[in-house]
Amino acid sequence: MATATRTRTARGGIDLGGTKIEAVVVDGRNQVIGSARRPTPTTGGPRDVAKELARALRDAVADAGLETSDLSGAGVGSPGAIDADAGTVSSAGNLPGWKGSFALGPALEAELGTPVTIGNDVSVATEAEFRLGAGRPYRSLLGVFWGTGVGGGLILERKPWLGRGSSAEIGHMVVKIGGARCGCGREGCLEAYAGRGSMENRARKYVDQGRRTDLFKLMKERGRTRLTSGVWAKAIEREDKLAIEIVDTAIGALGAAVASAVNLLDIEAVVIGGGLGIRFGQPYADRILGAMKPHLFVDENPPAVRVAELGDLGGAIGASLLARRTAR
Ligand SMILES: [Zn+2]
Repeated sequence: MATATRTRTARGGIDLGGTKIEAVVVDGRNQVIGSARRPTPTTGGPRDVAKELARALRDAVADAGLETSDLSGAGVGSPGAIDADAGTVSSAGNLPGWKGSFALGPALEAELGTPVTIGNDVSVATEAEFRLGAGRPYRSLLGVFWGTGVGGGLILERKPWLGRGSSAEIGHMVVKIGGARCGCGREGCLEAYAGRGSMENRARKYVDQGRRTDLFKLMKERGRTRLTSGVWAKAIEREDKLAIEIVDTAIGALGAAVASAVNLLDIEAVVIGGGLGIRFGQPYADRILGAMKPHLFVDENPPAVRVAELGDLGGAIGASLLARRTAR
């Protein structure tokens, strides 16, 4: 009978990232009872991505000792512009061959035979931290996801603030007018200084100018083709001057942007997640708070700045929360 209770309330959650797909199965108390990870396809198109998402969730379901028919539903946190009612994802530039709009929800429902709800990856990760993680004590918070890019999510008066569909894009707050070129094509955005992609470009440029660093040696030693969060952390540990300089610049930019958001919204807490945020942990969240201070208008009452508690699975757990709303 214990199994029957568990299966009735089990839900799936999938975090669709640019490099990996993370899937979880959670029980009625939002505890992870199964998980799986697969690489995001780099070729093909939306249908191939949908098939990998279905495979990842089936693996997580098997890991939990269940069948997909045992799930009451599943949620997906996806990059791009989401129409939750239609289950479509568009403008997902980091995913292969994803031009125009694709009905990911209906495609996954057909594959899995369970109701599927689609949400924005960063919004669901923020809600997960708010409901289950570091944001639990607060009524208002800003989630800052410091990874390849810099994403943001906003909770105001205990509710997600979605604006007209593109809110909380803290990565594209301007920290320097006429500054560095951002991946979005504009100039001076936070992401152009703090996104891991931009940090890597900056490191390569400095190397071309003849500066020394162990960053790329560490990358090769770890069998990577990109400067991952682990590579940055290792270089910092070894006191690599160039790595320290680039990370210091990133923290300065994060401090300016987050402080500006706090000046506008006066939120109670800032939760720092994402690959770099989680890898660097609370000491760096504290450094971001330090970098915010000179820019805070009311500097004697700063918000709490906490590292995300749900770790790498936060996005997938957040996606599983979408399923609860549709479960009957
Ligand atoms: Zn930008």
